[in-house]
Amino acid sequence: MSKPIVATTSLAGCFGCHMSLLDIDERILDLFDLVEFNKSPIDDIKTFTKECDIGIIEGGCCNSENVHVLQEFRKHCKTLVVIGECAIMGGLPAMRNNVAPISECLEEAYLNCVSVQANEEKIIPNDDELPMILDKVYPCHEVVKIDYFIPGCAPRADLIWNALVALVTGNEMELPYEVLKYD
Ligand code: SF4
Repeated sequence: MSKPIVATTSLAGCFGCHMSLLDIDERILDLFDLVEFNKSPIDDIKTFTKECDIGIIEGGCCNSENVHVLQEFRKHCKTLVVIGECAIMGGLPAMRNNVAPISECLEEAYLNCVSVQANEEKIIPNDDELPMILDKVYPCHEVVKIDYFIPGCAPRADLIWNALVALVTGNEMELPYEVLKYD
């Protein structure tokens, strides 16, 4: 019987949620028995080569490329799961949502911030090759329909494991209090 196919990506996140997924330790071998990975940083497949059963998203949307990737995941994955606070509500990157207009945010980041050490020409990056920054950071559910939300920063490895196993086996998810984490 063919295995369910899983894709994962990191949008505006820190890769901590993917690190937490890898924290399932030796169960990663069981995971490879259970599922086949397609587009994912885990196997370095860059584009979808098959339609997928489950898409796992870390991070929210802060630029046009994030939106494009998220829409591609919605198109190619039957079930979309967001993991972590950045994907669920914007998380740390969404702290910039308090700075408006966006020009003020860019000036603070590239010109005025005390940590800017070397930008004597006062350049704010602006190139056609760069994705367009959005007016604010959007949680994934404000861009596409999301089926499941796994909280935490990062969600504990056991929670991600339990959720994945439940999704691919169709069994009820085990949700003991100890695996939940909301910060
Ligand atoms: S939720 Fe936390 S661990 Fe996950 S991408 Fe955001 S900051 Fe990183």
